[in-house]
Amino acid sequence: MDKKYVIAIDGPAASGKSTTAKLLARKLQFIFIDSGAMYRACALFALENNVNLEDISSLSDLIERIEISIEYSESGNRIYLNGKNVTERIREADITKLSSEIAVIGIVRKKMVELQREIGRSGGVIMDGRDIGTVVFPNADFKFFMIASVKARAQRRWLEAKEKGEDLSLNEIEDELVWRDRNDSTRLLSPLKKATDAIEIDTTNKTITEQVDMLLQIIKEKS
Ligand code: C5P
Repeated sequence: MDKKYVIAIDGPAASGKSTTAKLLARKLQFIFIDSGAMYRACALFALENNVNLEDISSLSDLIERIEISIEYSESGNRIYLNGKNVTERIREADITKLSSEIAVIGIVRKKMVELQREIGRSGGVIMDGRDIGTVVFPNADFKFFMIASVKARAQRRWLEAKEKGEDLSLNEIEDELVWRDRNDSTRLLSPLKKATDAIEIDTTNKTITEQVDMLLQIIKEKS
């Protein structure tokens, strides 16, 4: 695709955003940014430095010192936290919960949004998250909001966990998704919500290929 669009994909956890965004980016030859990975990296940095999330002064020092960089690759981006590859570590359960907790804090969001805007400045980017179409890129060329039933989302995460050899029950996963959806959509700052001009895509009964094709068709029609 010659046009350097900014494409925002938001939605709750496990709604299919990242998988769709990654494949779409490959087809369009755009870069793909998973903004959630940045909040996860912040959470890991706070954990490694024993910073209590209520201690805003220490958190502020921490945020000054954080360096997040992304190595783009079609097979999957690698994320570095102050030079260390944390791609796998940030997907672990303790970080998943902590990332949602740290994402409610203003100074953290401010820094992440700056970084995200910098990355998307020249366009040719697909970014997924919770506030990409509402806050990070309110003028994005395309905005999608992906949803799926909690059962379908839990089932997807359960399968992913099983493939990685993690022994988690479907109920545990569902409880965590429900908790995170609530935390992400009820926070004061940049809550998870559909931008008024976003196109909603329900992925409950869709395959990944169908999701990607649907977005691709919408983009091509409007190009
Ligand atoms: O997308 P992912 O599940 O990896 O995101 C982890 C957490 O980061 C989310 O639960 C949410 O609290 C936070 N997040 C956010 N804004 C974004 C992306 C993620 O608040 N744009």
